[in-house]
Amino acid sequence: MKRITLLILISLGVYIVLYAQNLDQIDIVRVDSISTTHGSESHFMGNVHVNHSIPGGHPSNISGGIITFEPGTRTVWHSHPKGQRVVIIQGIGWVQQWGSPKIEVRLGDVIWIPPNVKHWHGATETTGVSHYALAEIHEGTNVENMEPVTDIQYR
Ligand code: MN
Repeated sequence: MKRITLLILISLGVYIVLYAQNLDQIDIVRVDSISTTHGSESHFMGNVHVNHSIPGGHPSNISGGIITFEPGTRTVWHSHPKGQRVVIIQGIGWVQQWGSPKIEVRLGDVIWIPPNVKHWHGATETTGVSHYALAEIHEGTNVENMEPVTDIQYR
């Protein structure tokens, strides 16, 4: 009997720590507390700045942040298991689907990349671009990275 009571108390404690901790409260991530990091070489080519302000996870699987590309920089070829929304918030960039011509995108444009469609996005050769990128996490990841975008493919 004592053992059952202890188990119930431990279970309740674990529940409170994991699930009841401020999940019903509005949460603000203040702009000053958001750090910008250098984009990883497995996903980006060149000097790319990543501001990962939307971590994703329980209960929402939407993950993302602001990505800033200096001129000439881009992602590698990649896809997203649940698709991706890209919102241009500054500058002029390029996006390209495998097998199709690249497309110029500008401030305010909203791009939808369907699930598992191979593509890249980034700056143009002469202009930088910043965009919000939002993708759902599926089975632990929101991206599948592939090969680099060669200079010939990029230009
Ligand atoms: Mn993408």
